[in-house]
Amino acid sequence: MPAYSKLLAPYDLGFLTLRNRIVMGAMHTRLETLDRAQQRLTAFYRERARGEVGLILTGGVAPNPEGRMEDGAPVLNDESELAYHRGIVTAVHEEGSAIALQILHAGRYAKLAECVAPSAIRAPINKFIPKALTLEEIEQTIADFARTAKLAQQAGYDGVEIMGSEGYLINEFTSLRTNKRTDEYGGSFEGRTRLAVEVVAAIRASVGPRFLIIYRISAIDLVEEGMTGEEVQSLARLVQQAGANVLNTGIGWHEAVVPTIAAIVPRAAWAFAVARVKSAVTIPVIASNRINTPEVAEQLLSSGSADFVSMARPLLADPHFARKVRQGKEDEINTCIACNQACLDRIFSEQTASCLVNPAAGREIEYENAAPAAAPKKIAVVGAGPAGLACAVNAARRGHRVTLFERAPDIGGQFKLARVIPGKQEFDETIRYFQSQLARLGVEVRTGHAASEDELAAGRFDSIVLATGVKPRRWSIPGADHPKVVYYDDVLSGAAPVGQTIAIVGAGGIGFDMASWLLRDETNPDAVDGFLKTWGVDTAPTSPGGLAAEPAAPRNGRRIAIFQRRSERMGSTLGKTTGWVLKAQLRRSGVGQFAGVTYRKVDDAGLHYSIGGEDKVMACDNVIVCAGQEPDRDLQQRLEARGLSVHLIGGTESAKELDAVRAIEDATRLALSF
Ligand code: FAD
Ligand code: NAP
Ligand code: SF4
Repeated sequence: MPAYSKLLAPYDLGFLTLRNRIVMGAMHTRLETLDRAQQRLTAFYRERARGEVGLILTGGVAPNPEGRMEDGAPVLNDESELAYHRGIVTAVHEEGSAIALQILHAGRYAKLAECVAPSAIRAPINKFIPKALTLEEIEQTIADFARTAKLAQQAGYDGVEIMGSEGYLINEFTSLRTNKRTDEYGGSFEGRTRLAVEVVAAIRASVGPRFLIIYRISAIDLVEEGMTGEEVQSLARLVQQAGANVLNTGIGWHEAVVPTIAAIVPRAAWAFAVARVKSAVTIPVIASNRINTPEVAEQLLSSGSADFVSMARPLLADPHFARKVRQGKEDEINTCIACNQACLDRIFSEQTASCLVNPAAGREIEYENAAPAAAPKKIAVVGAGPAGLACAVNAARRGHRVTLFERAPDIGGQFKLARVIPGKQEFDETIRYFQSQLARLGVEVRTGHAASEDELAAGRFDSIVLATGVKPRRWSIPGADHPKVVYYDDVLSGAAPVGQTIAIVGAGGIGFDMASWLLRDETNPDAVDGFLKTWGVDTAPTSPGGLAAEPAAPRNGRRIAIFQRRSERMGSTLGKTTGWVLKAQLRRSGVGQFAGVTYRKVDDAGLHYSIGGEDKVMACDNVIVCAGQEPDRDLQQRLEARGLSVHLIGGTESAKELDAVRAIEDATRLALSF
């Protein structure tokens, strides 16, 4: 049987055939909220369809104004919007994929003073208190869902997805946590699920039998007083009877304190909850969350846990995922590393979504100039970290002749340190992707070779790009040369073994990562089981919300404290949507956190520091310095002294607020300018 035969198998729904089992999960990119961004959004969807995804689910569109996520978010409630949608639908159909509109009523998550919910209980992640819907308003809301579905049908969509998970309106009705109603839409299981069932039935009545209705069910709520697994199964059956053709699965509410998509979540960790839904119904079920490779996807389908896989961020990272699987080019897939840095973190900072590993995501029009260069050049790129790799590959893709120098034995730069951090093993995929591209594009790669100014000068290169990255900032206090003091790069590379009691100097991304690395538990070989236990997830079908009574605190016997000089909150520079996970881990593991300190010295007794006017000593085996970085520009001066001009990218250009998003994006833009 050919590889990925399940993933690539078409699915015939009777009135619609999907070309494979890959569904692009609904993503709000914020292009929907931008004025005149229809062209960008259309290009975004067209590119994914060109990449042969089976079915695209659009970002959520509200059925009425109070159901919007925020001011300016899209609503589809009259015919004046149809032209906008027809443009998108036509583009996707022209490329051979199907597309369904997601109907999302945000309920109490709407960032609107007029937000509504089953009961007037504020969400912990929203400042607005919702108004409880009256019976007449519920009736109107159901009619609004049906009208939006009908309009979607008129716009040419192949179907709709009803958002019934993630803690939005319909999910709020199904849970005792948010539904305290005493009328027929609350109380018993039948009352709480009535809205879900009536919405599906009303949509089916308005669109007829030959139109796809997907219901996204909350497979596991991960909040107190959420539905039990058995209730989820009963709801799944009710939704099927009401007229849904397919069930998609959602994992956890947005207010849940269990990570659901961050990199710390092992791949396919939620398969047990999806399989539970599948066992309850006879219609197809879509698995979602942390499915980012064809192997994981095929395994989920082969095991019978699901009929389709939903990938949202993985198709930001590589819009041509499905095509590459079909062509047997899996090693060329640019894999989503679940970092959230350029997608969700940006959306939560009111910017449009893109992707750390694929800066063209959401900017397909801007990046269309990646056409072959008119006059191929001879280019030297020095340093094979993320910046150098992105520059070399994108320049070679355009026909330039590229030589890539790397002084270490392998490519990857600091990603080789990052990949040992729990949850960052995914960085290996980025290195694998670049490795395959370098080979495919014929880049001359010289590893184990520190480029010298002599050879760069003698090489007669048209352009020299310095991507030599950063060096750890040296610490200068009395005792900084004490044997207890070690630097993060030596610790993570294994060059400097450390003891059981550790002081970490510096609380940026690397300081926090270091604490997480020191706390790692390697005793449980089953990553999924370890994750579920650590975060208090109960797989029993009778536990409300799927939560265990008490999560197991991650401890491995080490005593750790982390320090910073600034008095502001620790961890303020961590990712918006992932920082809380790291902070919660450290808090629960008893890691000491000290802000506003002055370092005094290091000696045999340990780290001496002052805080709040008091002098203290932390007795420790090691002090690990994670005090930021400085650009490595040694070559620049020497080359410029010879009259050679150079381009600086990534850490070489600036170490301030450097991350891989900037390193890859700047490098890609430079490569496109040659
Ligand atoms: P580097 O990665 O430093 O690469 C420079 C390369 O140049 C190196 O391979 C070096 O050997 C080579 N070189 C230097 N001089 C020469 C020479 N003369 N000749 C040949 N080769 C040379 N960023 C994120 O965005 N998200 C994260 O989650 C994240 N986690 C991290 C975790 C850790 C533990 C660490 C250490 C870093 C993390 N980073 C993260 C930061 C990220 O790795 C850097 O921002 C990124 O690697 C910078 O890329 P660069 O290409 O500019 O430099
Ligand atoms: P960083 O975020 O700039 O943090 C450096 C830390 O060192 C700060 O806490 C700083 O706090 C302290 N510091 C600075 N100068 C010091 C000095 N002279 N002596 C003692 N302490 C000093 O840098 P980083 O942690 O090295 O991370 C580098 C980059 O990698 C970051 O910009 C980040 O974007 C990226 N990264 C990202 C992630 C992620 O998860 N997204 C993870 C790792 C790394 P005080 O000055 O207050 O002491
Ligand atoms: Fe995936 Fe990170 Fe890209 Fe988001 S930014 S799609 S999480 S690789």
